[in-house]
Amino acid sequence: MALIVQKYGGTSVADCRHIENVAERVIAGKRQGDNVVVVLSAMSGETNRLIDLAEQIHTRPDPRELDVLLSTGEQVTISLMAMALKKRGFGARSFLGSQITIETDTAHGKARIMNIATEELKKTITRGHIPVIAGFQGITPEGDITTLGRGGSDTTAVAVATALDADVCEIYTDVDGIYTTDPNICPSARKIDRISYEEMMEMASLGAKVLEIRSVEYAMRYEIPLHVRSSFTDSLGSYVVKEDEIMEQTLVSGVPYSTNEARITISKVPDRPGIATKIFSPISEANIVVDMIIQNTRASDLTDMTFTVSQADYEQAMEIVKGVASEIGAERVAGDPDIAKVSIVGVGMRNHSGVASKMFDILAGHGINILMISTSEIKISCIIQRKYTELAVRALHEGFGLSDQ
Ligand code: ASP
Ligand code: MG
Repeated sequence: MALIVQKYGGTSVADCRHIENVAERVIAGKRQGDNVVVVLSAMSGETNRLIDLAEQIHTRPDPRELDVLLSTGEQVTISLMAMALKKRGFGARSFLGSQITIETDTAHGKARIMNIATEELKKTITRGHIPVIAGFQGITPEGDITTLGRGGSDTTAVAVATALDADVCEIYTDVDGIYTTDPNICPSARKIDRISYEEMMEMASLGAKVLEIRSVEYAMRYEIPLHVRSSFTDSLGSYVVKEDEIMEQTLVSGVPYSTNEARITISKVPDRPGIATKIFSPISEANIVVDMIIQNTRASDLTDMTFTVSQADYEQAMEIVKGVASEIGAERVAGDPDIAKVSIVGVGMRNHSGVASKMFDILAGHGINILMISTSEIKISCIIQRKYTELAVRALHEGFGLSDQ
């Protein structure tokens, strides 16, 4: 008898009809003899609706009260789901984070799970009943409600799976798995059968939206297999597993991309100790995440610095940098909000040389200029002009043999 944690995203519980469908699916699992634990998101669009309400009261709502508000979305779906299961003659019980308890730190809006008490859950399971758990929420030791950050129900599901030592954590969504790239811009994108945790982490951080990155990190740490699949079909989706459980070795597994990028260049900065911290400290104090940073040497004691931030942070970052630039005597600050990042990811890169040059070659062959490059052990990213995103993604997908398998 297996223990399966099933997490259903917002589109899978979008209304009562969908909730009834999910109930049928949960019951099918029970009938097979497995123990099922359900974790739910709010109905699709609900969390956004709640944020909008809060912003009608205040442009920057109080974080504690915002979490009280946002946690209500999941309270709606878990209660309805428990009703739907009971209606079908199955024992079920809904649980808020505070009822389990799912203990978190105090970082409202981006709380981290510290501990999950399993007693009540285990009792419910032993009775043959189905726990239906609110994703995305927890409670601090002081009793304040917290949320885990957007998409956080994935993390709840993986953390619950870990705490209960589940056999697998199934993430149900509206697509049938993890794709080599976005099928919307690359028609030859394929569903991946198996991908390693590490590759999935890179894919998620480089723009693939199907899994929240923290949940993958968690699953990797505790070696919980993830199965990403559709709640609208019965076909198998994609497994995220340990690298040594993957037989088929490919050089490149995926081509993620992100158009949510902007670039800022500070030219003719004095090249001496302390300059980088003068530039980047105020940026990090403003909670702006800097992605790539490049420093070029000039044939003088001046240097140029270029870095990227997300679109949302671009204007604020520009303002900060302009302030710092005059302070440190830099000549010019230039910004470019029309860029994109295309990447290739694959554990096969570790043992192969020439992958980067092949990537550059493919882009050059399509007349695409590379503006910035960054690499890690299993990924290479290039910043390009945004208008070439589709072309670059398709060319790389094709060029690395992902289109014809
Ligand atoms: N409802 C929350 C959100 O939209 C959590 C989740 O769906 O994972 O971010
Ligand atoms: Mg979600």
